[in-house]
This record gives sequence, C-alpha cells and structure tokens, in this order.
Amino acid sequence: MKKTRIFALAAVLLLTACTPDAPYQANISFFSMDTYMEITAYGHVGTSLDDCKDEINRLEALLSVTSPDSDIGRLNASGMTDVSPETAEIIKYAQRIGGETNGALDITVYPVLKEWGFTTGDYKIPDGDTLNALLQKVDFTQIKADDSAIPAVTVPDGVQLDLGALAKGYASDKAAEILRENGITSALINLGGSIMTIGGNPSSGSPWRIGIRNPFSLDENIGVIEVADKAVVTSGSYERCFTADGKTYHHIIDPATGCPAESGLVSVTVIGGSGIMCDALSTAFFVMGAEKAAEFHREKGGFDMILVTVEGEILITEGIADTFTNLSKLPLTVL
Ligand code: ADP
Ligand code: MG
Repeated sequence: MKKTRIFALAAVLLLTACTPDAPYQANISFFSMDTYMEITAYGHVGTSLDDCKDEINRLEALLSVTSPDSDIGRLNASGMTDVSPETAEIIKYAQRIGGETNGALDITVYPVLKEWGFTTGDYKIPDGDTLNALLQKVDFTQIKADDSAIPAVTVPDGVQLDLGALAKGYASDKAAEILRENGITSALINLGGSIMTIGGNPSSGSPWRIGIRNPFSLDENIGVIEVADKAVVTSGSYERCFTADGKTYHHIIDPATGCPAESGLVSVTVIGGSGIMCDALSTAFFVMGAEKAAEFHREKGGFDMILVTVEGEILITEGIADTFTNLSKLPLTVL
C-alpha cells in the first residue's frame, strides 16, 4: 500500500517535470549590497537566476562605498579616477535627479552619514560645528565626469560619493533586463525592499500584490498595491535608525541640515517603470515632504506614490487609487 503510494507520487512528480508547459517556479536568495535579496521567476528559468546574482554582485563590486577597490571606493580615496561608463551614467543620473529635487537627493552626503555612524552602526549625534564643516563638502554639482570611453571622474578634496540611495533600484533594473532577455515573462525581484516585477503572478493570473509595510507596526502591512511590470520602492525612517534621549534618528539625511530628514513623513513608496528612478525619488521625497513630493508629481508625473505621514495619514496619487487597498485604519487621501 505504502509502496504504491510512493510510486504514484513519484509518477506525478515525473509527469510534472516532463510537461513542457508546466509553470515552473524557481527561486534564489542571497546577500548582496548589504541586504537580503530574493528573486522568484516562473517558466523556463535555466541559469538566469544565477546570472542575476552574478550581475548584482558585479554591481556591488563596482559601486560599493565600503570596498576600496570599487569605482566609488577609489574615487573617494583619491578624488580622481577612471570609472566604468556604467558608474559614470549612474552618477550623472543621480546628479540629474539631484537637480530636479533641488538637492534633496545628494550623493555627496556620505561624509555626514559617516559622522552620524550610519555607515558602521557606531552611532553618535554630531555637534553643530562638525556638521557645518562637513556640509561644506556636500554638493553633488561639484562632481565632474567626462564623456570619454573610460570616463574620468573628479571631485574636490574631501567630497565623497555614496550611491546607496539608488544602487539597489539600478540593480533591480539590470536583473529584470537579464530575466526578460531569457524569455521570462513572470518574476518578482526583491532587493531588500526595492521591488521590481515582471508581468503578473502566474498562479493567480493577476497582477503581483505587493505589501507596503506599516511604519507604525512593522510586522503588518499598511496596504497592498497591485502591479505588473513595475518597480515598487520604499524609503522609511524605520529602516536603519537609533534612539538617543528619547528621539529616533534615521539614515536619510537632509542635505540642507546634515541631520536626519524631518519632513513629516515616515515612509515613501514610489511606483513606476524604472527601478533607479523609483529608488532615487523615494529617498528624495522622504527629504522633501508630502507637499513638495505632490508638486513634483503634478509637474513631472511618470510615477505613482504612497506617502505615510507622521500623523498617521496615507496619501496616494490618483493613478493607483484603484489598485491600492488600505489594510489599516489610517485615513487615506487621494492627491
Ligand atoms: P534603503 O537603502 O534603506 O533602501 P534609501 O534608498 O532611501 O533606503 O537610501 C538611503 C541611503 O542613501 C542611505 O543609507 C545613504 O547611504 C544614502 N542617503 C541618505 N540620505 C541621502 C540623501 N539625501 N541623498 C542621497 N543619498 C542619501
Ligand atoms: Mg532610495
């Protein structure tokens, strides 16, 4: 009896494995760019998940601020270096968004971030004079990158770069590119909260349902957004933070003050076609606050967003009014 059952089970497994059109699911998880990453893809996956992992590790080796051998590590050490065209492109993109957000995104905020201890976990509150001195070195417009085949990048003495605000979004774009090139039409790429989706969810035949974390109760979702072929990237003050004298300090710095941004937001989620854009904008909007983010959305468009304010209000853009479900008791306003 037992033997028959085992045989029957084996036969079913064999049949499933041999059926050419079975919706095969494959998964890979690994640690890279200082975070846990997981990619799930459906269909004839082949080696494409390993290729994604290799690609993300390649990008980490190229962009990591903590690696002395990366393009960014070498630039920060010497103030001038040749970089790969890809690094130069990301720097220029960050400068463009820096300009469009009036400096809310500033990839030269690194010396300030270090002083607060956000890079090591050795947290401290810097004094005003130290911060003011460091702020003299925070200015993304000072980065010069030429257009040659092997671009030379220069920064003034003491200026240091960190692409942490947008590197994961860029990596999610590259992973999606690899999967698409391999014929994958359904996948979920989660790079430590920077999410990119390809197609929809094959098991339900509908869009992906992505949970947005409740900043006030971290093991719950504040809501769910349905997406297909879109990135969903969240920046939250709960991500990397410490508490001193009853006050919480987090890792998104307002380049105007050198202190953790206090714009009245606890989380910002940006939804759009490009991972690097969503990642860059989520960090910038966190610094800018709801009003300026809404103004940016009205003027530029091309994305949607979910903002959660410190007062416990959810603000969403009209484009996702039908696809966002509020799971919390917090009031929701459509901008
Ligand atoms: P996470 O990396 O937690 O997903 P973000 O995408 O919002 O979150 O990026 C925050 C990171 O960006 C910080 O850890 C720091 O390296 C860098 N950073 C902090 N403030 C700024 C800023 N105003 N402009 C550019 N980069 C920033
Ligand atoms: Mg970001």
